[in-house]
Amino acid sequence: MTPIKPTMSLSRPLGLKAMLGRRPWPWRAVTFMVVASFVAALVTLLSPLPAQAYDVAIQPASPQQGDTVAIVVTANAGTRDTPTVSVNGETYPTFALGSGRYRTLVPSSPLHSSGRYVIQVTGSERTRNPAFWLDRRNFPVQRITLSSSAASIEGTDHEFDRVQAFKDVLSPQKYWNGPFLRPSQGRVSSEYGVRRYYNGVFAEDYYHRGIDYAAATGSPVVAPAAGRVSLVGRVADGFALHGNTIGIDHGQGVGSIFIHLNSIAVSEGDMVQPGQTIGTIGSTGASTGPHLHWGVYVNGVAVDPGPWRNGSIE
Ligand SMILES: [Zn+2]
Repeated sequence: MTPIKPTMSLSRPLGLKAMLGRRPWPWRAVTFMVVASFVAALVTLLSPLPAQAYDVAIQPASPQQGDTVAIVVTANAGTRDTPTVSVNGETYPTFALGSGRYRTLVPSSPLHSSGRYVIQVTGSERTRNPAFWLDRRNFPVQRITLSSSAASIEGTDHEFDRVQAFKDVLSPQKYWNGPFLRPSQGRVSSEYGVRRYYNGVFAEDYYHRGIDYAAATGSPVVAPAAGRVSLVGRVADGFALHGNTIGIDHGQGVGSIFIHLNSIAVSEGDMVQPGQTIGTIGSTGASTGPHLHWGVYVNGVAVDPGPWRNGSIE
């Protein structure tokens, strides 16, 4: 701090002599007193102010079940440490967007209860605890009657392990850019989030984890966004339930899965571009007719692909 030089009026105010007695204080003492009181005043003024705090923005502002909630944190103090973001105690990966901004993608699904979710942002700036409300959404309901003779295809450990590994992929790169393309021109035959009753009993853990497009066998399936092919599974390799399958890693915990394919035109490790043909529609695995099932996973949870299609997630 620049030292304040006392002026004549400050150093010799009226009554100072009386306060100090007959002997006036030396210059040095007066200077010290003035500077010290200035510093004390400044400290008093500044100390109740909090340290710099993160700005936290939540998108969309009113999320509903199935939405991907983007939490964008802006650091104000120019700190470069990535903040830690958790929601109701669960920590999610956070990636830098540049210019002191960071983003965390928080998935939701029909299995997430509606209600209040508390975010905790911690790091080198003051901790923030904003909250959002997850709205309830009414998903379509199907009533399925299973006869005792109904053939049931059981998945293999191999395919479940491979699909789980696909869901667990977490690449720091962000491959997607802008809205996702429709992966098939077929008509939507089943929406995201459909719930089911089997023989009158509500299936608590079931929801349709993607969108189905019905089209003729051999119709093209295109990559909805750029990414890296992180999973190729075939019926011949044990993909009995999913059928011929492709998984694309779009980066930063976001991935697409395509199942029941007829043919596969890519290999694991390939980089694909939006609109690139990756395979064709089929009816392999547990499927009752030719269709594409497209699922979008965010940090391991099948979210509604809708908001990814309409570009509300940058
Ligand atoms: Zn499906």
